[in-house]
Amino acid sequence: MQKIISIVGKKAVFYILLAVPVSMPYICSADGGNSAKPKLILQITVDQLRGDLPGRYKKNMGEGGFRYLMEKGIWYANAHYSHSNTETVVGHTTLATGAIPAVHGMVANVWFDRDTGKLAYNIEDNRYHILTAGADVDKSTEVDSSQALASTDGRSPANIISSTFSDELTLYTNGGAKIFAVSVKDRGAVTLAGHTGKAFWFSKATKEFITSSYYYDQYPQWVSEWNTEKNYERYGGTAWELLLDKSTYMMAANDDAPWEADVAGFGRTFPHKYGEVSGKNFGNYLTFSPAGDELTLDFALALLESEDLGQDDITDFLAISFSTTDYVGHLFGPSSLEAEDNMLRLDRTLAKLFAAVDKKVGLNNTLIVLSADHGGPEAPGYNESFGIDSGYVSPDTWDKKPAIARLKKKFGLGRELIKKFYPPYLYLDRELIKEKGLDQGEVEKAVARELMAIKGVALAVSSTAMAKNELPDTELNRSALRNFCAKRSGDILVLFQPHYFINDYDGEIVAANHGGPWRYDSFVPIVFAGAGIEQKTIYREVNPVNIATTLAAITGTKPPSGSHGAPLQEVMDDM
Ligand SMILES: [Zn+2]
Repeated sequence: MQKIISIVGKKAVFYILLAVPVSMPYICSADGGNSAKPKLILQITVDQLRGDLPGRYKKNMGEGGFRYLMEKGIWYANAHYSHSNTETVVGHTTLATGAIPAVHGMVANVWFDRDTGKLAYNIEDNRYHILTAGADVDKSTEVDSSQALASTDGRSPANIISSTFSDELTLYTNGGAKIFAVSVKDRGAVTLAGHTGKAFWFSKATKEFITSSYYYDQYPQWVSEWNTEKNYERYGGTAWELLLDKSTYMMAANDDAPWEADVAGFGRTFPHKYGEVSGKNFGNYLTFSPAGDELTLDFALALLESEDLGQDDITDFLAISFSTTDYVGHLFGPSSLEAEDNMLRLDRTLAKLFAAVDKKVGLNNTLIVLSADHGGPEAPGYNESFGIDSGYVSPDTWDKKPAIARLKKKFGLGRELIKKFYPPYLYLDRELIKEKGLDQGEVEKAVARELMAIKGVALAVSSTAMAKNELPDTELNRSALRNFCAKRSGDILVLFQPHYFINDYDGEIVAANHGGPWRYDSFVPIVFAGAGIEQKTIYREVNPVNIATTLAAITGTKPPSGSHGAPLQEVMDDM
């Protein structure tokens, strides 16, 4: 049997895993090159922006947004993540660090912490609390099922094991670079700010942009002022309505598909009402619609102005993660009228952002890079409407009794072997297994075999088998191994077959859910624009890990500590 890790040494392993060229030199770094470094790096992440969506919905887009990126930038049309668990914190951290999750350690939005015996939210850190009272996640209304699991309001980047590009820029400039990240989602901002920058995110409870004591003892004055303005109030009593005439949309007929989530009060057809500002779900509804991105833009523009970014020869860094596309994708699917209209609204938001940056810094002095933390699947109902086998997986409904009986017969233990199942990982009771003198790897393999017999499960991978290098060299196993961090990953990774996924997390039911290794989940755009970049479309396969190394090469910093891969040559050629 061919092995992923053969007799080659550990260093060679990552090269094999990544399958990216490792010998490409930094041909033209800013230090050795012929042009000035950008005054500002603007790193945009669009949450759940699958690589085909901007082109698919381009017809009705205006000028200066996506069209600017398509017509002036270097567009990588075949960019894919290579790890199996394509979730938000995993992708954002990969974008920030240029590392795979096996190295940066953020293997899932939620993992089971064996020390505390509880599920842990990725950036949770009870040492650093939110600066605003009452701004914590409201568990009675929180729809972000992973965020709702956090047991405290504390947030920091401490769980990110490797350095980010933003960290390297801080070190390189001896703290001279200004580093900021903004997002509706806490994990969309904390990851990109890295360990040395400042992060702000949106509180659905107070509708303010907030931060934790990791970053500040008290808010900068401009933040307090922005929050005092209550910009969210402009949405009170209004609704998310179509930007254009309905007949002009590709998805005009897809506003009321049966698979769309029907959120109480928000509905599944236009207009989607926000309700009054005092409504208990008002903050949620803002994030389910383009309003979330518009408020993020407003706040980012106030930041750009107040912190005076990009005004001297030291390169500053501003990361913005727009979250709405993710919520819309989950609730309605990427082939809905909502998704199409959201893409047009995002296009306008980007156009405003680029215009403001042009005015403040100049686009010729600004290097823009846009990507996504993951792609996303179609809603199964949409696939099925075209005859493609697709469906939801419901572990709660699995008949587990026969499997449990077989395990009991083999090991003398049944259900008690399993400590927790939180996708994508199943966690076994390691202490019990040890206590009974059983072999951890054998138990994992037996449980994995039982899981693989279930309809919808494509692969169940034993972590001990990964650690012992016992897996055949398949692309799927490689993607699992890239996600395997011994300290955090569970004992068995469960992967569902293409077009199948869980859509029900403790009663929160969505239309579509990403998180698999398949091409629709791994597919994201990578675009570089501004700062002397000339238009090209590149079709060779690239990986988002290449972004951080490219930014490092352009600014002359050392590569982030866990990063892999060479800088993107087409970008370096233009710098
Ligand atoms: Zn995401």
